[in-house]
Amino acid sequence: MSDFLKGFREREYQQDKEYLHETQCPFCSMQCKMNLHEDRSKQKTRYKITPLKSDPVSEGRLCPKGLFSYKHALSSSRLRTPLLKVDDSFVPVSWEKAYHWLSQKIISFQVKYGKNAMSVYGSGALTNEKAYLLGKFSRVALETKYIDYNGRFCMSSAAGASNQAFGVDRGLTNPLREIQDAECIILAGANIAECQPTIMPYFRKAKASGAKIIVIDPRETLTSKVADLHLKVKPGMDAALVNGMLKIIVDEDYVNHSFLQKSVEGGRELLSFARSIDLDEVERITGVAKNQIIEAARLYGRATTGMVFTARGAEQHAGGVNTVRNFINLVLMTGKIGKHGCG
Ligand code: SF4
Repeated sequence: MSDFLKGFREREYQQDKEYLHETQCPFCSMQCKMNLHEDRSKQKTRYKITPLKSDPVSEGRLCPKGLFSYKHALSSSRLRTPLLKVDDSFVPVSWEKAYHWLSQKIISFQVKYGKNAMSVYGSGALTNEKAYLLGKFSRVALETKYIDYNGRFCMSSAAGASNQAFGVDRGLTNPLREIQDAECIILAGANIAECQPTIMPYFRKAKASGAKIIVIDPRETLTSKVADLHLKVKPGMDAALVNGMLKIIVDEDYVNHSFLQKSVEGGRELLSFARSIDLDEVERITGVAKNQIIEAARLYGRATTGMVFTARGAEQHAGGVNTVRNFINLVLMTGKIGKHGCG
């Protein structure tokens, strides 16, 4: 923390008191709510995290990241000054010297190659304020048109696909508590047990009520352990795999024709496309046996309610938008959207 901020904080908080801050974990999309205890009654300020029981999403759960990752910020081995490479080794320098060195380098690049020679890459982990400042820094200070962030190759695929299909950005279409009422759940490239562990109990509840869980992932993960059917697709072949499932859904007629007619533009084209798919070819390129593709399509197609979750495994591809669109086609074809336990 800079001296300025430290001074500000010292003025805000009295040294001899204990504080409880209601906040939320910043480390994944679940944003689980938590209490940050700040004990300033001892010589050295102590911190502790406890879950906020009233959080309707996490239902009062926190994973190890939420409970303990704040300790990184307090670690005594964190760098506290810039390091400049001199004769192949790093030496600590003042912030003034670091800023001067950096600005001279940037100016020399831009004089030689133009303003756009510099690009800026941010992160989804930045706060709104930092993201805003980074944008200003790029456009006003550097005057470069190149600014991007890791989301481009991440959840943007889901956003793009949802925009194309529904006209709105991504997001869950149903409350998490409805997961337990889905008869079939497809987790495509979504390793919930390791990446968003605090919502895993929703899936366990669904399983306990008899839901069938299909995991699509080349790897064996903690999530695949709860699967009834694990499709170990070759990396990058998820879109083809869904097309194989679509074919079975059409051939064996698990299609919700009235929904398709009433609510889906291009439904007829989708049907004839699905019929034209060659299942042998799908088996060959995805590495998933035909009988498994058929079983997955039957489980999802025959269920009266069902949900599909895609995540980075299906989205982080050059054609990630199309892959997610294919999963959305599965949902649209069977009309499993816009009602309880579907989405
Ligand atoms: S699941 Fe874990 S990392 Fe994600 S928000 Fe909750 S506590 Fe944080």
